[in-house]
Amino acid sequence: MTLELRNLTKVFGGRGKPIVRAVDNVSFTIAEGETFGLLGESGSGKSTLARMIPRLIEPTAGEIIFQGNPLTHLNERDMRNVREQIQMVFQNPFSSLNPRMTVRELIGEPLLIHKRASGAALDDQVRDMMKLVGLNPEHTNRFPHEFSGGQRQRIGIARAIILNPKLLILDEPTSALDVSVQAQVLNLLIDLQRSLKLTFLLITHDLSVVRYMCDAVALMYLGSIVEQGNVNQIFKQPKHPYTQALMRDIPSTNPAQRMLEHVSLEADIVSAPWSGQGCRFSPRCPAAQIGNCKTVEPPLIPVGDGQLGACHLIQPQVNQN
Ligand code: SF4
Repeated sequence: MTLELRNLTKVFGGRGKPIVRAVDNVSFTIAEGETFGLLGESGSGKSTLARMIPRLIEPTAGEIIFQGNPLTHLNERDMRNVREQIQMVFQNPFSSLNPRMTVRELIGEPLLIHKRASGAALDDQVRDMMKLVGLNPEHTNRFPHEFSGGQRQRIGIARAIILNPKLLILDEPTSALDVSVQAQVLNLLIDLQRSLKLTFLLITHDLSVVRYMCDAVALMYLGSIVEQGNVNQIFKQPKHPYTQALMRDIPSTNPAQRMLEHVSLEADIVSAPWSGQGCRFSPRCPAAQIGNCKTVEPPLIPVGDGQLGACHLIQPQVNQN
């Protein structure tokens, strides 16, 4: 197992400011070589969760276990070593790359920071990495603005894998790209995963990216997981009313409509705030009932074959023994 999160929680605010539980008691595990999708609308807490794993944001509570080692109590020096193994690819390759640095400097920087290579050895590694991600190795002295959006994301990926990490956290890696380029970048990631034996945590609000890339998926809603399972279970037999609404509304052809924001739920996440009591999805849920839904938060329970769901209407798994 590469990564295990146990009851991970992040609370913002306090001292006179409103308290927001951006990530609320999230637990899941990612097996080695797996692609685990974290699916959610903006404001669901998925990017905060992603940044807590390498402790770019400090968790308020909970545990992060990476390759058997708990991370939350490591000091900054030990964490720096762990971060060689956990790298991130960000959504917008233009804003995440320093425009004043050449490609050689951008891709080679992690080698310098972690004292892995310098001089001619660094140049060789940068050129090898450029070839691996489909960039022309003769373009090492060019700047980010001289590349297309897809090529810039390839630079971001090269920078992320040059230290030979185990886990890549992909935060909306293709959502800033043209649809025609998205598949090329996803295919590159799939190839790299196979050849470098990488494990992926893929953060996205794009259902088709999940279907194309992931083995398992968790749906986040207002900081909490409301359903989790393998991709077939989630797409073919969703149990939670939120997931059911998403799956009902997937159009097969129009890529502009496949994002979560286009799903026709009763209201959007901002106009239907949760009071903090009962089920967090109740303000938007077409199946909400007056009793438990408004007063008792449903726990995430097993519903069979490893699938999990958090809804009072879901029948729990019956233990056969
Ligand atoms: Fe809807 Fe109630 Fe289930 Fe929440 S617990 S998802 S409000 S039916």
